[in-house]
Amino acid sequence: MNPTFSPLVDSFGRLHQSLRISVTDACNIRCRYCMPEQVAGFLPQHRLMSFEHVARVVDALARSSIRKLRITGGEPLMRPRLPNLVSLLRSIPQIEKIAITTNGMMLADCANDLVDAGLTHINISLDTLSEETFRRLTRREGVDRVIAGIDAAIQTKAAIRLNALVMRDINLEDCVPLVEFALNRGLVLRFIEFMPLDADRLWSRQQVVTGSELRERLSKRFGPMHLVERSDSSQPSTDYRFEGHAGTVGFIDPVSKPFCDQCDRLRLTADGKFRNCLFGKEEWDVRSLCEENASCEQIVALALQSVRAKYASHGISDSQFKQPERAMYQIGG
Ligand code: SAM
Ligand code: SF4
Repeated sequence: MNPTFSPLVDSFGRLHQSLRISVTDACNIRCRYCMPEQVAGFLPQHRLMSFEHVARVVDALARSSIRKLRITGGEPLMRPRLPNLVSLLRSIPQIEKIAITTNGMMLADCANDLVDAGLTHINISLDTLSEETFRRLTRREGVDRVIAGIDAAIQTKAAIRLNALVMRDINLEDCVPLVEFALNRGLVLRFIEFMPLDADRLWSRQQVVTGSELRERLSKRFGPMHLVERSDSSQPSTDYRFEGHAGTVGFIDPVSKPFCDQCDRLRLTADGKFRNCLFGKEEWDVRSLCEENASCEQIVALALQSVRAKYASHGISDSQFKQPERAMYQIGG
């Protein structure tokens, strides 16, 4: 019988059940809210956590309280042989959900393999339907590839969701077409507020379009919106349905309405560090533990150390707030 360990509970009583696993910091596009135009270099292969080590960490944490996984990056589909990782994670019995967040550019080619390997949820980032805006926002071409990726994902048995981020000066006008696109395909779309995690450090409150501003815009086009009751208290999104339309639209408002009191997430960076928050200042090196062939107990002890050092909230609105050194693509979104 495998031993079980105490749950990952922080000093504010928050139980941690979700692990975000970044598998690379590399990406094939350059979203302004995340990456710089020119990247000095991505992590070399030898500094990435191997799939075996990731699975070892998950196996240990699953004996504690981790039940839900999200694979992210950088762009996770750029990591070769990703279905192999999904298969390894799938074989860990306590794990109930294996999700991915992707920009969709490479999804059409691998959605089936990933779902066959055990992926249960696919979130695809889609901020615009216009090629011109896509180019301004991501400094690359190819919104048609993202849409092909979404359509391929819909054909699988995974649950699909769309994520959109609105920057006031770039894609505010896209919010209505994006909702129409999602409603037409029967997909849930969630808007996420722009957080101060961009590599260029150009974030400003003026660029943030809050959920309430978006709701006001959307209700002008689609009519009254009604709050949908939360099915999961740790879900970061507040969902609404439109009168007379099937489908819902969600709002993740970390800037205007922080939901840190419900946070149940721990993060594993692509180079093998635990982080207890996107905005955390400290990291805990689990990769070295894996290399030293540490026991599950030692891995869980390190995760507990990280979780117990977690602050009550991200502090974006505090006067002494400082943007973290690592940008979103380096932490894992
Ligand atoms: N490359 C994949 C993608 O874009 O979906 C996965 C990694 S990306 C960092 C994960 C999510 O973080 C995306 O939905 C993206 O929109 C979001 N994101 C990136 N930078 C952000 C920022 N500064 N504020 C809020 N969300 C951000
Ligand atoms: Fe790449 Fe995702 Fe960051 Fe965009 S948000 S640059 S797709 S990692």
